[in-house]
Amino acid sequence: MAQRSKSSLSKYIKMISSKSILDFLINGIYIDIDIDKIIRSEIDLESQRLRSKFNYSIIECAIKAINSAYYAALNGMTSAAFENNRFFLERVSLTKIISMMNIERNPYLMALEDKKWHEIINDKLIIYGAAQFTGRLKHYYGKSYDLYNACVYLTGVPLCSVHSKKFIKYSMTIDEISDLTKKKIDEKCNKCNKKAKRFVIALPKAGAVIALLGIYTNKDTTKLGRFYADYSRVLHPYGFYNYPKEMVFNLWALDTLRLFHVLNNIIR
Ligand SMILES: [Zn+2]
Repeated sequence: MAQRSKSSLSKYIKMISSKSILDFLINGIYIDIDIDKIIRSEIDLESQRLRSKFNYSIIECAIKAINSAYYAALNGMTSAAFENNRFFLERVSLTKIISMMNIERNPYLMALEDKKWHEIINDKLIIYGAAQFTGRLKHYYGKSYDLYNACVYLTGVPLCSVHSKKFIKYSMTIDEISDLTKKKIDEKCNKCNKKAKRFVIALPKAGAVIALLGIYTNKDTTKLGRFYADYSRVLHPYGFYNYPKEMVFNLWALDTLRLFHVLNNIIR
């Protein structure tokens, strides 16, 4: 039975083969299938899978997002459906990264839970891409850098006591990092050039999250990056508000089955 449902799922996924959702949306291609029951049960299964895999409250938002996507798609709301898929993709990726960092009181997690993430971003403590994240680690470790525990703080930004004051909770003192990593660290404050006291964590922009997922899982996340880019294109610049309402659900459902498939292979 499980085998049968698996092969029928791959049959469905093949229906959109390697095409981008943009190909369908731009050219108005319609897929005529009865997929409501399948996608509904796959969302429920995926929710169970995620809850059993990640013991964090932040995963609940991902589950809410994919359910919101379902209702948006049912109502023919293209933009809202794919926007929720994008949030789902981001949140699951981020949760996986957090779970792998192996830090007690993970600062990424706390920044999300405390709703301070945007304040850290507003202070320009940002990771724009994977190279930026690994760059500082390589600076201290050379090629065989470490991605876990206190080392994660080294991917942040060195700040003096004045400039790190707002973000004590999301930082670690340089002395402590030095003790834990056995590395000699001497840095100047990124804002005022005085002696740095702490590393405050820097947070990844949405696009960088998928690149970081690749680093932590050591898997190729190119396909996930394409999902992300396609979802972004639906929102900006196209919107696709004229795509026929009855066509939205089937396309969204097939794409979502494909997303689950690709994502689960990476986060398993
Ligand atoms: Zn300073």
